[in-house]
Amino acid sequence: MADTLKAKSLCKLKREIISKHFDEIAAVTRNSQYICSKCARTSEGKKWLCKPVTL
Ligand SMILES: [Zn+2]
Repeated sequence: MADTLKAKSLCKLKREIISKHFDEIAAVTRNSQYICSKCARTSEGKKWLCKPVTL
């Protein structure tokens, strides 16, 4: 239970972490308002991305 999903980590998630925390990731990407200009990932909060840009 130690490895919870951390802010700023969305860009760096490994495949096994994505499947493990899929519900949490789905929750923060469902209403995405930001996209990472470096990694092309999206989320509802800029804190999840390394180079957030408003969508
Ligand atoms: Zn990024």
